Amino acid sequence: MKIYKAHILYTKEPGRFEVLENGCVTVDDEGRVVGVGSQETGEVVDLGDRLLIPAMNDLHVHAPQYRNQGLAMDLELLPWLQNYTFPEEKKYADVGYAERMYRRFVRDLWRFGTMRSCIFATTHTESTRLLMRLFQEAGMGALVGKVAMDRNCPEGLTEPVEETVRGYEDLVSWSSRQGHLTPHSTRLTPLVRPIVTPRFVPTCTPKMLRACGELAAKYQLPVQSHLSENRDEIAWVAELEPESTCYGDAYDRYGLFGQTPTVMAHCVWTDGEELELMKRRGVMVAHCPTSNLNVASGMAPVRRFLDEGLRVGLGSDISGGHDLSIVRMMVYAIQVSKMHYQQNHDRKFLTLSEAFWLATKSAGSFFGRVGSFEPGYEFDALVIDDSDLNHDNYSLLERLERYIYLGDDRQIVHRFCRGQEILEPKII
Ligand SMILES: [Zn+2]
Repeated sequence: MKIYKAHILYTKEPGRFEVLENGCVTVDDEGRVVGVGSQETGEVVDLGDRLLIPAMNDLHVHAPQYRNQGLAMDLELLPWLQNYTFPEEKKYADVGYAERMYRRFVRDLWRFGTMRSCIFATTHTESTRLLMRLFQEAGMGALVGKVAMDRNCPEGLTEPVEETVRGYEDLVSWSSRQGHLTPHSTRLTPLVRPIVTPRFVPTCTPKMLRACGELAAKYQLPVQSHLSENRDEIAWVAELEPESTCYGDAYDRYGLFGQTPTVMAHCVWTDGEELELMKRRGVMVAHCPTSNLNVASGMAPVRRFLDEGLRVGLGSDISGGHDLSIVRMMVYAIQVSKMHYQQNHDRKFLTLSEAFWLATKSAGSFFGRVGSFEPGYEFDALVIDDSDLNHDNYSLLERLERYIYLGDDRQIVHRFCRGQEILEPKII
């Protein structure tokens, strides 16, 4: 048992923060929270006048686009894919290149306090397995997707369906072997697992989509993809899948829309039947506000999603998004919702506690009991030393708000995932 003493801030519900001045979080030997402010006996770790908050969760990020972060922002979605994304992803056939880039990527997720993420890798099985190994070695949680695609993209990135299935089976067996090596594998799911990842309908033939749905069902794997980001894309999907009643239905008919836990990035234009289907199936939205602003495909109406009862978390969407920090993503999510508010005063903009909840407890729910300090939650946490920002008589909530708006990775002095302190991963 370990007891962490600090100023504790987290959200049990979207509308308000829980704030404990000089509180403590008790964590058991399996890395789970026993209670907040409880009087258990154990080793006390006194963190002094620092803030202790849940760690960040990124629900949508493309690891092989890490090199393109901050590039090609003058292009819209489809030319951007053809000219920048696909040529870069081809390089991941070279495992040496993949290792150099992926190590930096994992190290930077660590820097910004992201302890769990949903990742798109590339088609290449070997470099995808390498990325899973790097997360495993770092001790950080990740659902890693070997990207399935067999049409409408350049040679070197497509793969026959049979090979994709074999690749996934290889990753599943790798992941189950790792599970046996972790000390608490009997009670907790492995930190690093594959996630079924059809890139999006335009790059997957019906045969590929069907195989993806079968893989998800057979191995009970979660699913991720892109949905209704861009109007040209939606029109294209309607042409390719003429039987489908909406873009979401084009996934649903292949078992890729909530039959196992599913997260869909963007959903900018999701409405009507698609929205109802997502609600019914518990399909989660990965809202990527910087990507919405950069790629100019439109801005997802998050307040509407919350009013409708959809599950929502935040994603950085590197490199459609330019910023890996989920802390800053809260600010962008609030700002995007204020732009919606300017158009329509019936729907209020997001508050700080709501954005914080989206990034922590709501997004964390995709990984299990993650993102809060309530009893039974896995202890994923960041220790924030905001002394350089805390130069007057600020309340604890004001200190947190200033950290979210003004801080960066330099104020994060400790990071924990599932109760373990995570040290800086090595780069080469
Ligand atoms: Zn994406």
